[in-house]
Amino acid sequence: MIPYKHEPLTDFSIEENRQKYLDALKKVESELGKDYPLIVGGERITTEDKIVSYNPANKTEVVGRVSKANKEIAEKAMQVADQTFNTWKKVDPVIRAEILFKAAAIVRRRKFELSAWLTKEAAKPWAQADADIAEGIDFLEYYGRQMLELAKGKPVEELPGTINKYVYIPLGVGVVISPWNFPFAIMVGTTVAAMVTGNTVLLKPASATPVIAYKFMEILEEAGMPPGVVNYIPGSGAEVGDYLVDHPRTRFISFTGSREVGVRINERAAIIHEGQIWIKRVIAEMGGKDAIVVDDAENADLELAAQSIVASAFGFSGQKCSACSRAIIVGDEAYNKVVERVAELTNELVVGDPANPETYVNPVIDAGAFKKITEYIEIGKKEGRLVAGGQYDDSKGYFIHPTVFADVDPNARIMQEEIFGPVLAMTKAKDFDEALEIANNTVYGLTGAVISNNRFHLQKAAEDFHVGNLYFNRGCTAAIVGYQPFGGFNMSGTDSKAGGPDYLLLHMQAKSISETL
Ligand code: NAP
Repeated sequence: MIPYKHEPLTDFSIEENRQKYLDALKKVESELGKDYPLIVGGERITTEDKIVSYNPANKTEVVGRVSKANKEIAEKAMQVADQTFNTWKKVDPVIRAEILFKAAAIVRRRKFELSAWLTKEAAKPWAQADADIAEGIDFLEYYGRQMLELAKGKPVEELPGTINKYVYIPLGVGVVISPWNFPFAIMVGTTVAAMVTGNTVLLKPASATPVIAYKFMEILEEAGMPPGVVNYIPGSGAEVGDYLVDHPRTRFISFTGSREVGVRINERAAIIHEGQIWIKRVIAEMGGKDAIVVDDAENADLELAAQSIVASAFGFSGQKCSACSRAIIVGDEAYNKVVERVAELTNELVVGDPANPETYVNPVIDAGAFKKITEYIEIGKKEGRLVAGGQYDDSKGYFIHPTVFADVDPNARIMQEEIFGPVLAMTKAKDFDEALEIANNTVYGLTGAVISNNRFHLQKAAEDFHVGNLYFNRGCTAAIVGYQPFGGFNMSGTDSKAGGPDYLLLHMQAKSISETL
């Protein structure tokens, strides 16, 4: 087996790649508006009630109409998953891993087409869509290899006259609830981590992006996944989500999404229901209020700082849990220069339809997000000094210009609350220690970055900047599977690390077997 290496990103300066993307967009456009069924135990189920997936750049363009699970279908899916667990858990881990490797090969072959679906369904600009698909491939390749290692068990001490073994076994039925912002990578990663470890899965993708999840189901089937191992049940989070979280046969829940829903799931999962014989495990990856700290003018490369802030704040319109939404800059000179340069760079960004290769800032996902973000922009106008953006328009799609506020108090709402859109707040600190205090002054702890050439400051940040993913002299987004395992502290989640060496263990339990000879 060749060692894991992350999937390279596509170089769109090469004409051939640009042409392939345009062709893929054409193909996807010719397939828009189709109906998609649910998949339970391999069976296709069509319902009257549909989730309609729209293109955020063009509100009238229907990407697909997906059958919608209700409680009855969720119950049927639970029974199928519960039964299938009895056979799937006994399937050789090598075979389970090979399904992932085959799926990775299929995704790689269909990369442009799948990326184009993301451009249509989630409004991902080309490079962002390509990175999302590449990350999905990485999860398949990485977790497959991790499973092969775990299958060997771990050595434990031996006593004369005994044989001691320590092996990992799966948990049972897992409910996987995924978000729309990495509709491929996170949906794939959380689903296959659960299945490759021998569990069966009820997959409830985000209602904004169910079509790409259906495409992945087809890929898993083509790769040899037996029926009933992963069941596709899009539906309302409030209805199907609550039902399955409460279900006594649910063994674990793997959730990625907002703090509000993650906390709700954690609370509900703690309640023991009739017939339940275990304590449910919750893996939750939640929100962030991530900061880039820039050292003073003597210690920091201010151009690197401005470039890193803008790329981290406005890539995919700031709709990343890792996005930079706060910039904290030490001292007057650095602050004034960085604010000016960030405003300049922000004003250069091209806002538009992501189907256009020049677009950097895409529309936000839906009407709800548009309303929430634009309300924050209005709050920001009172809490800070508007230095870039501030305009928005939802007549065709949900377009919001990248927006920067300077001189914002560290306790202001736009410095504390997750906006999840293209809005950046900037503030000044008197020294590096104060900058770190401001950076840590939120309930979250997901990502952070420090721009500094002062080795002592970097060391201090390594110790005291309390985030799950800390970066030096670069932006705070774009973690790579296997290289920078991803996940945050405090209200950013349950301290797990997706794409890391101990992630699969969250889906398993260890069994100690000892024989006296
Ligand atoms: P969300 O509103 O919390 O939704 C996430 C998922 O939860 C969706 O599938 C949603 O279904 C479902 N859901 C809603 N209510 C539920 C309930 N009562 N029970 C069970 N499931 C329920 O989050 P989002 O808007 O999709 O994603 C954005 C959030 O995700 C941000 O806060 C971001 O920071 C966070 N995020 C975190 C990470 C990380 O790794 N830490 C990564 C990506 C995103 P519906 O779509 O049907 O409502």
